[in-house]
Amino acid sequence: MRIVLLGAPGAGKGTQAKKLVDKYGIPQISTGDLLRAAVSAGTPLGKEAKSYMDQGQLVPDSVVLGMVEERMKQDDVKKGYILDGFPRNTSQAEVLDKMLASLNMSLDAALSVDVPFEDLMKRLTGRRTCKACGQMYNVYFSPSSKGDACDKCGGALFHRDDDKEETIKKRLDVYTASTAPLLDYYKGKGIVKSIAGTGSIDDIFAQVCAALNLK
Ligand code: AMP
Repeated sequence: MRIVLLGAPGAGKGTQAKKLVDKYGIPQISTGDLLRAAVSAGTPLGKEAKSYMDQGQLVPDSVVLGMVEERMKQDDVKKGYILDGFPRNTSQAEVLDKMLASLNMSLDAALSVDVPFEDLMKRLTGRRTCKACGQMYNVYFSPSSKGDACDKCGGALFHRDDDKEETIKKRLDVYTASTAPLLDYYKGKGIVKSIAGTGSIDDIFAQVCAALNLK
């Protein structure tokens, strides 16, 4: 199964991707996670990416595409993958198509997780992520019962630097201008499945599995 997750920042793509990973054992490839890891490790790529991320801008394609290509060479992607946060604009989608064509592969679905724009701000300002295992929480909707520690592994929870109100506004603008057009791009290929990203995480996951014909 090779799928692309579409949806605005805060739509819950990462949360649903992690549930797919847990249940079906296919890897999630999140360019945001890869970039944050590069920033934490202080690599040259991370240093280049950081200023864009802090401003809520897209990191240049040249940086992201190289990183995705490297990730795609790893063994675990042979059984499929969930692309989360990539592609982020039409030119990245075109490069992905070429990458897949050269491997004689195609995408099975582009799954759009739809959430009303007015809900996104609270979802993003309330978001907390476990430093150790990546599990996500929301202080308003789905807090950890252990406060600042992860329910799953006890790791420390952190608030992403770019989940601050001013940066979120910029990220939503960038989404509207650059990423939302991907919906039409993939509609043109006839592979879009849309689900409502509101309600409980488990209910949304049931819809994800139904849309993807997973048991
Ligand atoms: P995310 O975790 O997907 O919300 O991404 C966080 C930030 O990383 C974004 O606001 C961008 O600055 C950067 N980023 C993540 N994925 C991409 C991508 N495919 N292309 C460009 N920038 C990206």
